[in-house]
Amino acid sequence: MKHWDVIVVGGGHAGCEAAAAAARMGARTLLVTQKPETIGVMSCNPAIGGLGKGHLVREIDALDGVMGLAADAAGIQFRVLNRSKGPAVRGPRAQSDRALYRQAMQDLLAGQEGLEILAGSVEDVAIDREGRLQAVILGDGQALPCGAAVITTGTFLNGVIHLGRQQWPAGRVGEAPSSGLSQTLSRLGFALGRLKTGTPPRLDGRTIDWGSLQEQPGDDPPEPFSSLTRAITTPQIPCHMTWTTAETRSLVQDNLADAPLYSGQIESAGPRYCPSFEDKVVRFAERERHQIFLEPEGLSDHTVYPNGLSTSLPADIQARMVATIPGLERAEILQPGYAIEYDHVDPRELTLGLETRRLPGLFLAGQINGTTGYEEAAAQGLVAGLNAALTAGGGREAVTFDRADAYIGVLIDDLVSRGVSEPYRMFTSRAEFRLRLRADNADERLTDRGIALGLVGARRQDHWAQQKALLAEGRALLTKLNATPPALAKAGIAVNQDGQRRNAFALLRYPTIDWEDLQRLWPELGAIAPPIRERLVIDAAYQGYLERQEADVAAYRRDEALRLPPDLPLADLAGLSTEVRQLLERAKPETLGQAARLPGMTPAALTLLLRSVRRRQAAKRDAA
Ligand code: FAD
Repeated sequence: MKHWDVIVVGGGHAGCEAAAAAARMGARTLLVTQKPETIGVMSCNPAIGGLGKGHLVREIDALDGVMGLAADAAGIQFRVLNRSKGPAVRGPRAQSDRALYRQAMQDLLAGQEGLEILAGSVEDVAIDREGRLQAVILGDGQALPCGAAVITTGTFLNGVIHLGRQQWPAGRVGEAPSSGLSQTLSRLGFALGRLKTGTPPRLDGRTIDWGSLQEQPGDDPPEPFSSLTRAITTPQIPCHMTWTTAETRSLVQDNLADAPLYSGQIESAGPRYCPSFEDKVVRFAERERHQIFLEPEGLSDHTVYPNGLSTSLPADIQARMVATIPGLERAEILQPGYAIEYDHVDPRELTLGLETRRLPGLFLAGQINGTTGYEEAAAQGLVAGLNAALTAGGGREAVTFDRADAYIGVLIDDLVSRGVSEPYRMFTSRAEFRLRLRADNADERLTDRGIALGLVGARRQDHWAQQKALLAEGRALLTKLNATPPALAKAGIAVNQDGQRRNAFALLRYPTIDWEDLQRLWPELGAIAPPIRERLVIDAAYQGYLERQEADVAAYRRDEALRLPPDLPLADLAGLSTEVRQLLERAKPETLGQAARLPGMTPAALTLLLRSVRRRQAAKRDAA
C-alpha cells in the first residue's frame, strides 16, 4: 500500500496552500477532497486581500505560496485600500473572477511536483501503538497511511444551513457536510465549538439598473499581489455602489421573527466585523442606510455579489429587501443568501506549528480552527503544510513565525494563545509591530527564511536574489550621495543651515522632500526603477521609527526565546494560584512570551515561571 508523507484533507484555501507547501518541501503529498472540481472555490465573496488580509497574502507569496499568483491571474479589479494612510496599514485587495481563480488554483496545484489529488471524503483517522497518527480513513473504509495529515475542512464539520425557518445539513450550498470527522475529533477528546457565518443573495447583473449607480474604478495601473507577476493582463472592470433605504430597514425589522439569528434557531456566534444585514439593523437601529458594493463575480458571468447584504431571512423577504434598494428595484435573485453553522476545534488544542497536542502527526488549518476568511485559512495552511512535511520527514523541530516576523505569526499566536469566541479575522490593529510588518516588505522579512527551510522554489529564489541586489544597490547609492546645506539650498531643497552634510537616504525622511527633488540634484538616481524607488522611499520614511521599535522587539524576542518545558512541575511552584496553574495546564504555553499573553496571566506568576525555568537550566548546567 502506498505511504504518503503528508495527506491534506480538503481543497479549500487552507488545503491548497498546505498541499503546495508540503510538496515544495519535498514531501510526497496527497490532497484528498470531496470534489476535486471545487478546489479553489470561493465560498463567499469573490475577492482576495483587504486590510490585514492583503498583508497575509503578500507573506504567503514571500514564502512561495500560491494564493497571490492565483489572485493575480483572476483579478478583475485591484485596489490598494487605505492608500492615503501610511504604508504600514495599506491593504492590497483584488476583486476576483471566481471561475478564473478556481482554474488558476487548480492549474498551480496540477503543476506542483510531488503532489497528487484524490476525490474522496475522509471520515476517520487511524492511530498507531505510540499514539501517533498513522493513516486517514475514507468513507468507503480505505486507509491511506501517512506520516502526517492536515485537516482543512472549513465550514463542513457538521455544517447546517439556515434560510428563514428552513434548515438542512450542508458544508456549503449544494455540498454535503462532513460528520464522520467531527465525530472522530470529538471521540479523541478535542474541544469543539460551534460558530456561524453567512452570505448574501446573488443577483442577476442583467436586471440591475447600472446607469443610476455610482461607479467605483480600480487602481490604474493595478498592483499585483505576487512579486513574480510582471503585469496584470486580465481585463479590469469597475464595481458599483448603492445604499439600503429606510424601507429596507423597516422590512427587516418587521420580519425579525423569521430571521434564524433572532428566532433562536441559530445560537452560535458570527463574525462581529462582517455582520449579517439583520444584525446591522438591530445593532445600529438609528442608521437609516448602509452601503452596499455591487461586485461582479466574473468577466463572463452575470452574477453580482452585493457585499454588505449577507442575510438568512426567508427567500421571499430577501427578494422584497433587494427591491427597496436604489438600482436594484427590478433585480432578480439567482441564489438566496443563507447562514451556516459548523463545528470548529478550539485552537488552544494546537501548538504554534499547528500540530494538535492530543494526536501527534495531526495538523489543523483554516476555518476549522475558528477563523473566517480565505487569507487567514491560506496562511495557516502554509504553516501546517510546512510543519507536516518536517514532521513526516523525521521530526525536525517545528517552524514557527513570531509576532515580530509576520502577520502569520500574529494570527497563529492569537489563535493558539487566546482561542476564539467568534470567527477570527485579521486586522492590522492586531499586530504590535505594525511598522515592521508591511505589505511592501514581506519578501525582505520572510523569503530568505523560506529559502533556508527549502520552501521556496528556484524561480522565486532567482527573482528575490535580483530584487535584493537592486534594493542594496539603491540603498548604497542613496547613502553615498550627500551634500552640504548650502548645496542643497542651491538645488531648492530646504534644510537647516547647520553645516551638516546629509545623504540622500536621510533627506528622503523629510516629508517636504521627494524623489524628484533629489533626482534634480543627482540625476543618477533616475537609474533606479520605480518599484525599487518606492520601497526605498518607504524604508527611509520608517527608518527612525523602526530603530526606536528595535528595543521593544528585542524584549519581546527575549521572552519568546525562553521556552517553557512541557513537564515544568506547576503543582510544585509555591505561590502559583490554582487559577493560574489551571490556566497554564489548559493553555500549555510554549514560551514565556506566550504565557504572558494568556488572558488572566499575572506578573507574579510570570516571575515564578521565569525563576523555575532558570533554576532548571542552572541544575542542568551543574549536572553537565
Ligand atoms: P473551505 O474553503 O470551506 O474548504 C473546505 C474544503 O474541505 C472543501 O474543499 C471541502 O470539499 C473539503 N472537505 C470538507 N470535508 C471534507 C472531508 N471530510 N474529506 C475531504 N474533503 C473535505 N469569509 C469571509 O472572510 N467573509 C465572509 O463574509 C464569509 N462568509 C462566508 C459565508 C459562507 C456561507 C461560507 C460557507 C463561508 C464564508 N466565509 C467568509 C468563509 C470562507 O469561505 C472561509 O473562511 C474559507 O473558505 C475557509 O477556507 P478553508 O480552506 O478553511 O475551508
